Formats: sequence, C-alpha cells, structure tokens
Amino acid sequence: MPTKPKRAARGRDITPADVMRLLGPDYGPVEWKARYDPASELVYTILSQHTSDVNSGRAFDALMKRFGSLKAVASAPAGEIEDAIRAGGLARVKAPRIKAVLEQVFDEVGSYDLSFLAEMPLSEAKAWLKRLPGIGPKTAAIILCFSLGMPAMPVDTHIYRVSKRLGLIGAKVNAEKAHDILEDMVPPSEVFPFHMYLIRHGRQVCKALRPQCNRCVLAERCPSRHLFDKPKVAPAKRRSAGSSGR
Ligand code: SF4
Repeated sequence: MPTKPKRAARGRDITPADVMRLLGPDYGPVEWKARYDPASELVYTILSQHTSDVNSGRAFDALMKRFGSLKAVASAPAGEIEDAIRAGGLARVKAPRIKAVLEQVFDEVGSYDLSFLAEMPLSEAKAWLKRLPGIGPKTAAIILCFSLGMPAMPVDTHIYRVSKRLGLIGAKVNAEKAHDILEDMVPPSEVFPFHMYLIRHGRQVCKALRPQCNRCVLAERCPSRHLFDKPKVAPAKRRSAGSSGR
C-alpha cells in the first residue's frame, strides 16, 4: 500500500522566549521608570490617541501649565480644556473625555490618587479602569504597566501586527483579545521588555507596508517571511508555441 508523502519539515514555532532572546541584543536592556502618576498617565493616554508622542507630550505639558493640577482640569469648562490641548489634535473629542474621566475618578475615589490599583490582582485593576468612559484594554494596560510597573501588556498597532506575522496570535484574533493572549504567554517580569522590543521591531524592521525580512533576526523562525520574500520583478512571460511574434 503506497505510503502518504511526508509533509516538508516545518521550523519549530517561534515563542516569546525566542523573541526575547533574538531581539534582546539589538533592543535591550530596557529600564522601567514611571512616566507619570497613574491619573496623569490616564490623561496622557487620552491625549495620545490618534496622534504622535511628540504632540501628546506637548498637549499634556500645555494642559498642566494652564491648569496646574488635575483637580483644576476637572473643574474647568470643556472649552477651556479644548483650547489648552489643541496641539494634540482631536481636542473637541478629547477635552470632554478627559473631564468626564477625571470627574468619575474623583466621585469614586475622592482624590486623583490611583496608586491603590497596584495592590489589586491585575485582572481586577484592569476591570476597574475599563469601566471609566473611553478607557479600553490598551489604555488600561498602559496605565498599569507604565505608571505602576504591573505586568500588563499594552498591544498597540506595531505589537499587534508583528505578533500576527510571527504567529504568536492567530490571524483572526482581534486587538482586544490579543492583550490577554500575549500577556498569558510572557512571564510577568518580561512583559515590559517584550512590549518595548516588539514596538521597536515593528517601527524599525517589521514595518506595516514593507517589512525588512532580509535584515530581520527573527526571519529564520518567522512563518510570514515567505509572504514578503517574493521576487521584485516578475519573470518575463514565455511566448506560447506557434506565436507569430507580431
Ligand atoms: S521575517 Fe519579516 S514578517 Fe517576519 S518578523 Fe521579520 S520582518 Fe516581520
């Protein structure tokens, strides 16, 4: 009885540990340092939606220069907040969002001190933040990771794209679900460097339109490399036999 042909041997699937080991020499070590207190980080992340780090930083600085404290921001009319954050773009949308979030935080906590989140289990801290208006999984993870050093994995557009190409998450997994999947795959102590490495890799090498697979240290283990390794010039069509050539 004829035996079934064996499938061509396929490389071992890449793991987060492989990613850390291969990207570490280029992008590491990374040092965690709190950027802002959690409530300020909350405001900053709203300002950073759909704009660059430079613009959101400018908008945050302008906001604090004008009002001096989060309490004063929360008390100000939305129109004045809008004027102050204009440098960050989408000011008409972001100003009422910032005001609503700060008001809800104060109503529930009685201050703008969110450091109590660090004492909660990670899933509860995330759930607490995600109830606030306009706060999704990425913003919640940014606050917990960047201001409190908790092992939450923010999944931005770069991390989402590179993780999919590497096969760490399935092709149909949405960005929201990707947060939990990636977080579960990476040891807590490595969540922050993994996040930083993948962002840098997505910006510098595994770019959205033209990933540079020929200089990628993950290429040998990447299941998507063949998608981008196609020859640039299509081979000339052969003339069919009997063609007159005219
Ligand atoms: S081999 Fe190409 S597609 Fe795969 S991670 Fe590297 S740059 Fe991205």
